[in-house]
Amino acid sequence: MRDTKSRDVYPECREHPIEVMEMNIKSVNEPEDLRPGERHPKILIIYTGGTIGMIENPETGSLEPFDFEYLIDNVPKIKRLDYRIDSYQFEVPIDSSAMNPSHWQDIAYVIATFYDRYDGFVVLHGTDTMAYTASALSFMLENLRKPVVITGSQLPIGEVRTDGEENLITALQVAAATTDDSRPMLEEVTILFENYLWRGNRATKYSADNFNAFKSSNFPRLAKIGMGITFREDVLWRPVEDAPLRVHYGMDTNVMYLSLFPGITETMIRHAFNTPGLRGVVLKTYGAGNAPTESSFLEVVREAVDRGLVIVNVSQCDNGMVDPHRYKTGSALYAAGVISGHDLTSEAAITKLMFLFGQDYDTETVKRLMETPLVGEMHK
Ligand code: ASP
Repeated sequence: MRDTKSRDVYPECREHPIEVMEMNIKSVNEPEDLRPGERHPKILIIYTGGTIGMIENPETGSLEPFDFEYLIDNVPKIKRLDYRIDSYQFEVPIDSSAMNPSHWQDIAYVIATFYDRYDGFVVLHGTDTMAYTASALSFMLENLRKPVVITGSQLPIGEVRTDGEENLITALQVAAATTDDSRPMLEEVTILFENYLWRGNRATKYSADNFNAFKSSNFPRLAKIGMGITFREDVLWRPVEDAPLRVHYGMDTNVMYLSLFPGITETMIRHAFNTPGLRGVVLKTYGAGNAPTESSFLEVVREAVDRGLVIVNVSQCDNGMVDPHRYKTGSALYAAGVISGHDLTSEAAITKLMFLFGQDYDTETVKRLMETPLVGEMHK
């Protein structure tokens, strides 16, 4: 993938010549592999890197991203799926800790470029920042009417006990699924991991070693995956408008997290809020959105809000939601001009801020939209 220097704003996607993009597309199976006369869903696998495709460097013993050819050679079963499967590999597969908004732009650009050619997209991605990519893509891909299923694995595909093979096969099946009236079952960005299918902007990585690495504390799974796959159509996201896909590439990274802890000093908070160029902060508070009520703390917050900083209150608890009026400690923040992130995950909150600032909205619009569900990312 692209090697980018750090920038504060990622306004537009870099130009990708279509011939180069076409050259990056490879067939995973051949037409002769398919059963004649049946419907063959067309799926594009976008390989970004991550443990799933890593191999061990014999000199250092560390895992490093490797080629898609190697990955797919380890999943011969894939040819038994009766789908037309192609792959798109970025030049340099990466560990997902190296992801930044320009990579999200690249992924969104590939999906947009080949949107009409495929029924669904499976993105292979490292687990570390998968929830950020899923959240960001959910905001960037407006009016998405096709599945984008992100998956990866905890063990490399070449290991005997790998979870990568099952995750990849299930992700392909989920991406190919249709409703009774032959429409795509999924019209949203999702994360498939082990037997769990989550809405992408509701999921969080919670385990560094369980095969079941993701959870979604405030939203149910989208399908029951066991011997069969049963989708919960009552909870799936359905775009309201029947409008064409519209990709919003702009992402503004002048945002940050600030997590409260007992003992955090006013000086620390003041320094953080005075970071040059800063436009938005996801303030991680206690429980139902509570914070100290000391006047010195509230004063720092009020000053920052008055200067135009957007401060979004998100709970340090995974489950439940910010309720600004439940305790005096929460309502004091609210009175100081902090807005509620309701039950947003941290990943969805920070990427939503990047996205909204990236669209050049004014501060008041960013605040209003932060409190408005856009693509099923929050309950309100
Ligand atoms: N460090 C790896 C990554 O995020 C971890 C993984 O893929 O599970 O790329």
